[in-house]
This record gives sequence, structure tokens and C-alpha cells, in this order.
Amino acid sequence: MAAIPSVKVAEVREFSRIERIGTHSHIRGLGLDDALEPREVSQGMVGQLTARRASGVVLEMIREGKIAGRAVLIAGQPGTGKTAIAMGMAQALGDNTPFTSMAGSEIYSLEMSKTEALTQAFRKSIGVRIKEETEIIEGEVVEVQIDRPATGTGAKVGKLTLKTTDMETVYDLGNKMIESLIKEKAQAGDVITIDKATGKISKLGRSFTRARDYDATGPQTRFVQCPEGELQKRKEVTHTVTLHEIDVINSRTQGFLALFSGDTGEIKSEVRDQINSKVAEWREEGKAEIVPGVLFIDEVHMLDMECFSFLNRALEDDMAPVLIMATNRGITKIRGTKYRSPHGIPIDLLDRMVIIATQPYEEKEMKQILKIRRVVFLSDLRETDPNYDFSLNRCEEEDAEMQEDALLVLTRLSMETSLRYAIQLITVANLIARKRKAMEIAVEDIKKAYSLFLDETRSTQYLKDIQDEFMF
Ligand code: ATP
Repeated sequence: MAAIPSVKVAEVREFSRIERIGTHSHIRGLGLDDALEPREVSQGMVGQLTARRASGVVLEMIREGKIAGRAVLIAGQPGTGKTAIAMGMAQALGDNTPFTSMAGSEIYSLEMSKTEALTQAFRKSIGVRIKEETEIIEGEVVEVQIDRPATGTGAKVGKLTLKTTDMETVYDLGNKMIESLIKEKAQAGDVITIDKATGKISKLGRSFTRARDYDATGPQTRFVQCPEGELQKRKEVTHTVTLHEIDVINSRTQGFLALFSGDTGEIKSEVRDQINSKVAEWREEGKAEIVPGVLFIDEVHMLDMECFSFLNRALEDDMAPVLIMATNRGITKIRGTKYRSPHGIPIDLLDRMVIIATQPYEEKEMKQILKIRRVVFLSDLRETDPNYDFSLNRCEEEDAEMQEDALLVLTRLSMETSLRYAIQLITVANLIARKRKAMEIAVEDIKKAYSLFLDETRSTQYLKDIQDEFMF
């Protein structure tokens, strides 16, 4: 019970990282300076200064652990960057603070009860920093022998003879250790360490204990013993896992594979109780500490009364993460009731919230966001599709991959339709431009993308309206 899922967790993180390459992948933080003042354009963030300044204060409170049990509501019209700001906070908090993102409507589509879905979301947002000791072996390499990989498998096998203070030991090496040895370019005479827990091999440098003696038969290698006490060292390592990951791994019906499929199903409350007491034990023994993370719920007005009372209660827990919510609704009905309230949120929950408001963008801010998106779109492509031929696109650091008048048309379109729609047109227009082997997106590419993905009448009408301003 309560196994520590060290290796698997790193792989799970990879998945969430990939998911994030998408609409908000240009956001790398909140774009604040050291005094928490927002820069006009920074870390992919543009404008929305008041909201970003307020978010910076929240961020500081999260870092100092002063906001537990409280909630933050980001309210504003559609496409004003509420999700972008939440993502910016996630980035600023870094990988070691758990951040979970979900939409209010998700809880109705999952094959589990609403409160189970929320419980899982809460537990995904609570980190447990576990301290462990690992044993390090230090010694001097006598011989490394790596066998040819068996055809087809790509697997490597090998042996490492290591001389420590009092003996020479032969270690069998697996793929990972061999990779690590090759990376470190370790060879006979080097002093290396092996981390017993992870198998990681690091080179400390060339041994000064190795000397070459010459006698009548030629050079002889003489190994001088490593200093006493260097033989085996203990090193403290920490890793952070979430409560949910511990739940899943210890849930007999699910097993850790469920972490990859995401198909975790309901987790029994007895499992959670046992994990909670185990974690409490670890905390008391100084083996673990709790890292409250952030749970972001978009479209929070989609939640109903049952969910809101769950949230109210869950925020009372001493391990509660910071709850950040977003909504684009004004005064509206609380789902499942006949009562109206601001943002469709019950007054008692509203009462414990700090509210951050986002404002609609001006044209120049829209233009700046679209420009950044275009640049980031290309570098995302580079990361996700290594086979993509970039010879037709200029370097992604330049501003010029989209002609200025095309950017102006796109900006106008974003004002008329929505920023999100305009962002999506970039992807389509890029494909169209490449088809005609063009270096840059031109107005005609935007026009085509617009007519393909919106009804013909509206697109033709709009482009007729502005055709005097641009030459097509
Ligand atoms: P909704 O109410 O419809 O959910 P929202 O307020 O959450 O909308 P976002 O999804 O954050 O809006 O914004 C739409 C797109 O514009 C996203 O791709 C987002 O990354 C980008 N964006 C919005 N605001 C900014 C900003 N200030 N700086 C950079 N990018 C932004």
C-alpha cells in the first residue's frame, strides 16, 4: 500500500506537456518584471495589464502559501485571455507545482459521478514532495564492455568493471546505463558514480589515482585505491508526485497503467483514506511534505449546486489547492436551480473569492497577439513534427512570415469574429500559402482560409467591404 511511483510519474508529466502545445503554447509566463509589474508584451502575453498585475499578486500569495482555502475568479468576455492568464500562472509556478486544468462541462461527460470527478481534479492538484535517500557508488572504471545490440531489438547490453576501495566488481549494464556511460564518454581510468536508485552514471573526472608503470614488458596499469569513505555515499533526492497518482497506483482495480490511458474510473474512498493516513505518517516522519498546487476550472458557470457545495467543502481541507475559476457569464441562473446570481456562482462561494476582471482588446493588442501566435506556430511545428520542411518558411524568429497587410486583414477579422477563430485561421492560411509555394502568408491565403471555414456569403461580404483598403 502507498507505493512511491517514482519513475512512472515523470512519463505522465510528458503527456500533460504535449497536451499543452495548442492554443496557448505561446504563453510562457505572466510577463511580469521583478516588482511584479506587467511588461506590455512579454513571455507571449500582451496587454491585459490590470488582470496580469492582479494575477501576479495571486501568484506571490500561492508561492508564499498564503492563499490556501481561497479561490480566484477570472471574469470577462469570451476571448479576453482568461485561460491564457491561468496558463501563464501555471508556467510561472513551474513544473514542481501541480497544475490541473479542466472545463466545468467535463464533469458531465465522464463515466463517474460529478463529485468523484472533482475529487480527482483536486487530488491531481495536490503534490506530495517525497524525500528519499539513494546510495551512490563511486569508483574507478577498469573496463567498459558494450556488446553489439541484437539485431532488430535496439537493446544494448554490457558490463562495467569498477574498482572501489577494496574490490573490483563487474556490473551488468542495461540500456539506460549504457546510454548514460556513452553520454558521459566514460572510459578506463575515469572516476564515476552510479546512482543505485536510478542507475544514472556520472563522471567525476579523470582519476589521479591511476598511474602508469613501465617495466621491461611495456606499460602496466596500476590502480591506486580511491580514498576511504568515498566508496558509498548517501544522497538525498526529492521528487513530487500528486495525491491522485498515488491513489491510482494503489487502487487495485486500476493499476498504474490507468495513468497513461486516463481511464481511472472511480477510486474507492477506503483507498483514499489509507493514502491520506500514509501521507500524514510520511509528513510526521519528515519523509514528505505537501505542495498545494492549482486547480483551474474554466466555464465554471457550467457547474451545478451539488458541485459548488463540494467546492466550498473541499476548500476547507488543510491540503486544499488554490482554486482558480473562469467565466464569461454575467448575472445568470445557478445551474439546476431557479436562482440567479453573479456569474451563476452561489453567494457563499463568491464570498471567499478574489475576482480578477479581463477587458476586451483593442485592435493593436489583437494584432500583437496574432503576430506572436504566427511565430510560435512555426516553432511548435518544429517541435511536434521534425519532418516538416521549413525551407519555405523564413526563420521563426523574424516577424516577416506574414505580410503586413495579411496581418491587418487577420486583425480586422479577429475584431469582427473572435481572436480564437483568427488564431485558427493562421494554421489553415499557412497550409494554403505552402501549397502555392509562397514564403509568407499573403492576404489571398487569409481570404481563402476565411471562405473555407466560414459561410461564403459572410466571407465575401466582409472582404468586399474592405477591398478598397487592400489590393487582392
Ligand atoms: P472564453 O471565455 O471563450 O473561454 P478566454 O477569455 O478564456 O475565452 P482565451 O482562450 O484565453 O480566452 O484566449 C483566446 C486566444 O487568445 C488563446 O489562444 C489565448 O492564448 C490568446 N490570448 C488571449 N489573450 C491573450 C493575451 N493577453 N496575450 C497573449 N495571448 C492571448
